[in-house]
Amino acid sequence: MFGLGGSGIAAAHSLVAGGANVLCWDDGEAGRARARAEGFNVADLREADWSAVASLVLAPGVPLTHPEPHWTVVLAQKNGVEIIGDVEIFARERAALCPDAPFIAITGTNGKSTTTALIAHLLSYLGHDVAMGGNIGRAILTLGPPAPNRIHVVEMSSYQIDLTPTLEPSVAVLLNVTPDHIDRHGTLAHYAAVKERLLTDAQACAVGIDDALTAAAAGRVAPDTRLYAFTAGHGASAIPRLYAIQQSLFVHEQSGSYASSEEIASLDGIGTLRGRHNVQNALAALAALRALQDLADGHQAALRPVDTDGARTVWTLQRLAEGLLSFPGLPHRLEEVGRIGRVLFINDSKATNAEAAEKALSSFDGGIHWIAGGQPKSGGIASLETLFPRIAKAYLIGEAQQQFSATLAGRVEAERCGTLAVAVAKAAADAAASGAQLPVVLLSPACASFDQFQNFEARGESFRDSVRGLMHEAGQ
Ligand code: ADP
Repeated sequence: MFGLGGSGIAAAHSLVAGGANVLCWDDGEAGRARARAEGFNVADLREADWSAVASLVLAPGVPLTHPEPHWTVVLAQKNGVEIIGDVEIFARERAALCPDAPFIAITGTNGKSTTTALIAHLLSYLGHDVAMGGNIGRAILTLGPPAPNRIHVVEMSSYQIDLTPTLEPSVAVLLNVTPDHIDRHGTLAHYAAVKERLLTDAQACAVGIDDALTAAAAGRVAPDTRLYAFTAGHGASAIPRLYAIQQSLFVHEQSGSYASSEEIASLDGIGTLRGRHNVQNALAALAALRALQDLADGHQAALRPVDTDGARTVWTLQRLAEGLLSFPGLPHRLEEVGRIGRVLFINDSKATNAEAAEKALSSFDGGIHWIAGGQPKSGGIASLETLFPRIAKAYLIGEAQQQFSATLAGRVEAERCGTLAVAVAKAAADAAASGAQLPVVLLSPACASFDQFQNFEARGESFRDSVRGLMHEAGQ
């Protein structure tokens, strides 16, 4: 086992529980000390007898290929030792214990966590036993084991896919692929190919077709695999299985030569699923559930009955609509912090680049009091130009202040506020005094947080604290 963070330690525990002889190592002393404290055999893998090693289990953060293979990878390859990750251990356990155990794996460049959380929420709402983890929340090997009546909902980064040769999920969800993490994967083509590998050997695939790379991947899904294509846009040439008109989500049904469309639900007024990107995420979640229902109906997934008629139900429109409505959302992603009078406060601290801030700005029609700044990314906010008319005023913080005010000059009123606390106070006062019907104070920084905060979570928490302080002052 190399890489002794949370998921590495969990993997080591599982391997020991399964009877393996485990050698642990990490390049950092902190991880090694932790493993030692938990009673593991910590040994420098440079000096190990590799001829006796069955597998190298790698933590997902350790480079497998780019920018260059980690030294343990080189040693494993030289000695003909397979390299796997913790999700592969889960997959093998599932194959051995209960190959029909429902298992939904989710990947994509953006929206993975939201979609994973939404699928888990909907299934829990419907009364199922759900184990959610992987790249979100808990490491997969800390979840309950695969079982016929337990649905594993697992977020997978491309790094984890790379380390999972026999994933074989019941349902694979591929949301979208856009340039990202190229440092780790060399080229966009390689990155897209890794993401597409999630679809290999799945029983059913839910694939977003709103970008060229995943649309092409949908076209390559094996003919005997159930395909649920979904689109939040209007560009699809063939009729996709799930689609949206504005905020309304539809499923296309084809039975023999008879085709029909049915409205599943509307996202209108659901504060935790604002914006076009969340239409895509909701469609992905619904496509996954529809796929799971069809697998259960075909006895390909062992799903526990949850209603009084003994039906193995996932696809029940009224309950799904209720489930969408009660989705709590994820912190720091268009999170509603509260209202003071007419003014709505939104924490989108996770938006560490312009693309993410674009999603947030697009989610409101106007009256936006926008708090932005921090450590700028290359390109700054120039790409957001078409959204500038929606911004009532910008409140700038951190290192990006000068650069952003230059981009906004003459187009959007902008004030350099220095810190987040000052920006919140000014934005709140201006929003309250504005004539807008539904003014919004939106923290969506389009920047990294590291100049002023430990991470984006700390930035979001600081925003919440400021807003709560104002609510308190307002007697709320
Ligand atoms: P991930 O887990 O893939 O990083 P999240 O669900 O945590 O994705 O969302 C992170 C940010 O990515 C959101 O705040 C939003 O700005 C953006 N985003 C979410 N879903 C999508 C989507 N379907 N397409 C494009 N961008 C998205």
